[in-house]
Amino acid sequence: MSSADTPSDSHPSSAQRQELVDQLRWQKFPVLDDGFVCLVDVMGDDSSVVQAARVSYGEGTRKVSDDRTLIRYLLRHRHTTPFEMAEVKFLVRVPMDCWRQWVRHRTANINEYSTRYSLAIDAAQTTQPAEWRTQAESNRQGSGDPLPEDIGQQLTSEERVLQDGIRDIYQRRIDSGVAREQARKDLPLSTYTEAYWKIDLHNLLHFLALRMDSHAQLEIRQYATAIGEQIVKPLFPVVWEAFLDYRMNSMGLTGPDTGVVQRLSASATTAPPWSEEEFLRAQDSAWADLTRCRERDECRSKLQRLGLLEE
Ligand SMILES: Cc1cc2nc3c(=O)[nH]c(=O)nc-3n(C[C@H](O)[C@H](O)[C@H](O)COP(=O)(O)OP(=O)(O)OC[C@H]3O[C@@H](n4cnc5c(N)ncnc54)[C@H](O)[C@@H]3O)c2cc1C
Repeated sequence: MSSADTPSDSHPSSAQRQELVDQLRWQKFPVLDDGFVCLVDVMGDDSSVVQAARVSYGEGTRKVSDDRTLIRYLLRHRHTTPFEMAEVKFLVRVPMDCWRQWVRHRTANINEYSTRYSLAIDAAQTTQPAEWRTQAESNRQGSGDPLPEDIGQQLTSEERVLQDGIRDIYQRRIDSGVAREQARKDLPLSTYTEAYWKIDLHNLLHFLALRMDSHAQLEIRQYATAIGEQIVKPLFPVVWEAFLDYRMNSMGLTGPDTGVVQRLSASATTAPPWSEEEFLRAQDSAWADLTRCRERDECRSKLQRLGLLEE
């Protein structure tokens, strides 16, 4: 964020705030081919965080720390409860495989569309030919490059046949009088569901930090990014700025990482970036005998990001 984009220190007036909330509320921000995230309600703003924190610090500190500085301090030092004073309620439309990851975040309140009570939503998430991803080689949980498009064409048409076929069977079960709660059991995980999702700002930032991260699956990352960029950023601009600075764009050095940097700089005869051989000489002794070592790989990436190691 450039200094020109830095949120102003003065909070918007209540009329300005209301206008912003009214403009955002019920606006469906599209995600994937047929999903969305949408703000239903919000309680609090940047100043709610400050107000809560000042109860503990007292009036005496009001003059020395302005609101932005205080919010940034609180986030940097991992304070929690001031951020729990604000709450946000969303309506989301998500494929069930993605939702299954989403609901692991236990600190939200959820009310989901019932396929026992109503017919399942007649929409399934489809994958375009260019969107099929290979299995990542280094990360067993992740994806790699896109598959060639001719293979993708085949996979997409097979997906269409599969989804249409299962939907027809589901409909036939319903038409034959099968209960909705039983008829649904073979619906694919790509079927969309809808839910109200309410969470406080502290736990929302925790969700966003995990699910906007590059290690999260692309699909849920798109939802988290839409929530963050489209809704949290305008509603909580000062908190958002601090969140980017101290969570998303920050990097932690572990004890072993720090040791590597200390040994590298102590033995260096040239200025960085240092070579892979120098890095391996300075690595932690516990990593040295391992052919594959995730911790060493993570340390290497961090030092590359800092410009201390050759790419
Ligand atoms: C990239 C990635 C890969 C993942 N892979 C897997 C996987 O392979 N298998 C799998 O099962 N899960 C996996 N998960 C899910 C992950 O382990 C967490 O369950 C999920 O991210 C929710 O995180 P959380 O518990 O911190 O969040 P929340 O449930 O929102 O909780 C927030 C915080 O509240 C506290 N808290 C909440 N409930 C409790 C409790 N009952 N007791 C104590 N403290 C509590 C904890 O401090 C917690 O961090 C993965 C998640 C990510 C982001």
